[in-house]
Amino acid sequence: MPLMKSWVASANDATHPFPLNNLPYGVFSTEGSHPRCGVAIGDMILDVTAAEAKGFIDLIEEPLFDLPFWNPLMEQGPAVWAALRNRLTGLLAAGSEEQEKIEPLLVAQAEAEMHMPFAVSEYTDFYAGRHHAQNVGTMFRGPENALPPNWLHIPIGYNGRASSVVVSGTEIRRPWGQLKGPNDSLPRFAPSQRFDIELEMGAIVGIPSDGPVSVQEADDMIFGYVLLNDWSARDIQAWEYQPLGPFQAKATATSISPWIVPKAALEPFRCNTPERDVELLDHLKDVGPMLYDIDLQVTMAPEGKAATTIARTNYNQMYFSAAQQLAHHTTSGCPMNTGDLLGSGTISGPTKPERGSLLELSWGGKEPLTLDSGETRSFIEDGDTLTLTGSAKGKGYIIGFGDCSGTVLPALPKPYKR
Ligand code: MN
Repeated sequence: MPLMKSWVASANDATHPFPLNNLPYGVFSTEGSHPRCGVAIGDMILDVTAAEAKGFIDLIEEPLFDLPFWNPLMEQGPAVWAALRNRLTGLLAAGSEEQEKIEPLLVAQAEAEMHMPFAVSEYTDFYAGRHHAQNVGTMFRGPENALPPNWLHIPIGYNGRASSVVVSGTEIRRPWGQLKGPNDSLPRFAPSQRFDIELEMGAIVGIPSDGPVSVQEADDMIFGYVLLNDWSARDIQAWEYQPLGPFQAKATATSISPWIVPKAALEPFRCNTPERDVELLDHLKDVGPMLYDIDLQVTMAPEGKAATTIARTNYNQMYFSAAQQLAHHTTSGCPMNTGDLLGSGTISGPTKPERGSLLELSWGGKEPLTLDSGETRSFIEDGDTLTLTGSAKGKGYIIGFGDCSGTVLPALPKPYKR
């Protein structure tokens, strides 16, 4: 599919992240106004809440966009998702007869503040990137035991915290926690010294389930995708993670990009999961291309300095798709809800510049990175800004996500008197 032309001129630039082919969903406010639903088109946002209130969008009996999150649309399912996308495309396409009436409902993105685009019901994070699992396992347990025996059979995950999922731009406070290095005789309580990122994609569940679902049904349940940074305190993690997995190391914050890119915009970029080392059991078998070809990169900017690109990889490096993760999540009968967020797991490629965490890039701190400013980093320093970006490359257009960015603030004074 080529670039679809819009009467919003900036959307027709072949390198703009938000052409008419994309139409991602966000929640925005302008000075003195309440947050409301909007769709990105070029440099502008269409105020969807206002468009519905004025009768330009009329999908079901009740209003869908009078609350500042997209969950009411998400729970409607694919027919209403497609009807909205069709209507928005009609309103914003070049030559639209409604241009004159819609133009006053556009807001410049430069004047908007972005908010969480949906209410996160629950957040589950997976560990389904093979190169990441191989790298981290090698560092933590040695090359022979790098991949746990279950790893090639199920997408390993843990239940994370919905309460600390934040939108891009939110500042991230360095956490305190219990730390114990391999040579320490006792643990101590201190700010994390090995605070890190994880480059991930987030899949957002639209349709709820009650009982096990197939991989195909799981794919149909997914509403869209965001970029996701699973902030991780490696020193807290190393001490706490056995035997139940990460807990406080991952609870400080998880950042997401502000625009939910609809699955429909990503259809042309579907690609296959890799060849299987061992055959998957039937309920997790691949039933079609369910990964996406999305270029990803990470930049790091020390306070007041220019950003350096520290990693480049692609979502096609995952071993398990979000659909397989979601199907696995339901095998126990676990109900899934509208607004559930699934982190893919850190996405790393096979070579060093493709590693999606500082833990891997600096190999546990043994090989610090040199930034363009000349400074070196093994982990995040106070004041550093970490930014994830991603885009799928079409013929004459791209599908972007918007930045997923966060600046790390110094730890607060010790939170307890004694
Ligand atoms: Mn993670």
